[in-house]
Amino acid sequence: MGAVRILENQSLRAYNTFGVEAKAQWFAAFNSVDALREILSQKRPLAFILGGGSNLLLTRDVPGLVAKNEITGIQVESETADSVIVSAGGGAVWHPFVQWCVAKGYGGIENLSLIPGTVGAAPIQNIGAYGVEIKDVFEYLEAMELSTGEIRTFRAEDCRFGYRDSVFKQELKGQYCILKVAFRLSKTQHRLHTDYGAIREMLLEMEVPHPDIANMSEVVIRIRTSKLPDPAQLGNAGSFFKNPEVDATHFASLQETFPNIPHFPTSEGRQKIPAGWLIEQCGWKGKRSGDAGCYEKQALVLVNYGQASGEEILELAKAIIASVEMKFGIALTPEVNLI
Ligand SMILES: Cc1cc2nc3c(=O)[nH]c(=O)nc-3n(C[C@H](O)[C@H](O)[C@H](O)COP(=O)(O)OP(=O)(O)OC[C@H]3O[C@@H](n4cnc5c(N)ncnc54)[C@H](O)[C@@H]3O)c2cc1C
Repeated sequence: MGAVRILENQSLRAYNTFGVEAKAQWFAAFNSVDALREILSQKRPLAFILGGGSNLLLTRDVPGLVAKNEITGIQVESETADSVIVSAGGGAVWHPFVQWCVAKGYGGIENLSLIPGTVGAAPIQNIGAYGVEIKDVFEYLEAMELSTGEIRTFRAEDCRFGYRDSVFKQELKGQYCILKVAFRLSKTQHRLHTDYGAIREMLLEMEVPHPDIANMSEVVIRIRTSKLPDPAQLGNAGSFFKNPEVDATHFASLQETFPNIPHFPTSEGRQKIPAGWLIEQCGWKGKRSGDAGCYEKQALVLVNYGQASGEEILELAKAIIASVEMKFGIALTPEVNLI
């Protein structure tokens, strides 16, 4: 005990990938369950658990305590000839964890290469990319209930994963700290997801007709590097909005006015429409208001050109939502957590 340092009035600029300035009333990092318990025992009101800050927009100074998860470590929990269960600490950085798995020959998360953030935040919005979501390989997670200190195990059905969603963004929002996440990965007969156009094109360009998981990881890294801004160079939090879904009637009327509208059927008979396309049609792509902007290569990404405040980025997001609503009758919702 006594190893935890609680800082007062701490700038969070270095702790969010938008790079916006906001101060936490108190700030502490923890690298063990005991350290988290010690922080909580001091009875300061907890504002939120922080991971890599890559899915946050801080719109003002934060009253209360921000606790940063730095619990790391990777463990093989069990294995058979064909599969393995691997767990990692909630504060472990996601991409190095993916790389570790790929290097060991464990398949299942290679398409999620280069997603920023931590292992512990990954289940919260059921991170996904290029045809894979973590729910596809999720085994269980352990989380501490912040009000009682009790540690509980959540199986997939308890997490209620959805598109960029889980119980931790809904009724259990802010109530648990995810300490550890375990994944079931393949050792043989890997199921590769090569069906995305961009992936097929990159495989052709790299002249890899029969990819393995390492090739898939490499392909995804190349595509992402070419399309998405690196937060170290240009502040952003990835896709700012979710791709909206509309019912069949709404879609039919949209298609009449906009015959080229891109769409993907969902299992519930609805149509998912790329939010980036909607935003682009409203003329936002590449637009800038002060230092807040809509990224020139991908309209779904909002960026901070340097000194934008969280409030300015939020204002831009609201203006985008209003114009998409006006033109298409669709209400965009943020994927990013607004604080
Ligand atoms: C360039 C870029 C590209 C991206 N691409 C993708 C993508 O392809 N797919 C995708 O799904 N996402 C993507 N994202 C979003 C982001 O990387 C993920 O949502 C990631 O999981 C966030 O992790 P984090 O540790 O940074 O979470 P943070 O931003 O620190 O936190 C996000 C939320 O989770 C909570 N939280 C964090 N850790 C814990 C914990 N251990 N226990 C309880 N609550 C916690 C926080 O309180 C907050 O509400 C991208 C972001 C960027 C910047």
